[in-house]
Amino acid sequence: MRKRPLIVGNWKMSPDTAREARALFLSVKKSARTARVDIIVCPPFSFLSLLANDAKTGKISLGAQDVSAEKGSAHTGEVSAPMLSSLGVRYVIVGHSELRAKGETDGIISAKARAALDAKIVPIVCVGEQKRDEHALYFDELSRQIKGSLSGLSRKDAEKIIVAYEPVWAIGENASGADTPEGTEEMALFVRKTLADMFGEKVAHTIPILYGGSVSEKNAGEYLSRGGVQGLLVGRASQAAKSFSAIISLAAAI
Ligand code: PEP
Repeated sequence: MRKRPLIVGNWKMSPDTAREARALFLSVKKSARTARVDIIVCPPFSFLSLLANDAKTGKISLGAQDVSAEKGSAHTGEVSAPMLSSLGVRYVIVGHSELRAKGETDGIISAKARAALDAKIVPIVCVGEQKRDEHALYFDELSRQIKGSLSGLSRKDAEKIIVAYEPVWAIGENASGADTPEGTEEMALFVRKTLADMFGEKVAHTIPILYGGSVSEKNAGEYLSRGGVQGLLVGRASQAAKSFSAIISLAAAI
């Protein structure tokens, strides 16, 4: 199990300009200089090459928000894992709920994870239920997603992945609220148990599990100390240097 917390920022489709992207990256880089935290920033594709040089020094690793599972060039608009790798990108988010909502299936997600691993990029595989129903069917939904999104991966592959538990009802502007640390702890245990069923206890223990969904500087500390997770996937609060730096400082103090 990792010792340092892992904080991932998903900038989503923000900011609008290259100038703002660089200013945000440099500001976070400066404030994260001494923190004992692993930090990954995932800007939109359009800013990756701009920030690649800035990410060569300092504490922030560069991640992408998606990757194509396809091979060959006949895939207009898509970005391949080797392209990302050539820019120094070391992580990629796959299976984000905003892409699942547009029709991305578990099968596509597992193919994307495979493509990332083949290019020596660590996939951050997102899973999470739509809602918490009273019959607890959300456990089945989550188990199906984990098994489908990671299908075809070997035990050795699984040692190189990160899983982000992101309940859909807690993500983004339409969120009904964040999960509680107690709720997250229960779900993280369930995710780890499912991973153990697939890859064995020993491997499951090496896989970092992150929580994502309306994380802010107000609640980040609680998830890290009581949520049973090894880090956080931060959306909106990573789009401003002040809030993201505050979350990094909280993680460093745990
Ligand atoms: C996300 O986009 O992965 C996310 C968790 O968003 P937010 O923090 O804005 O809810």
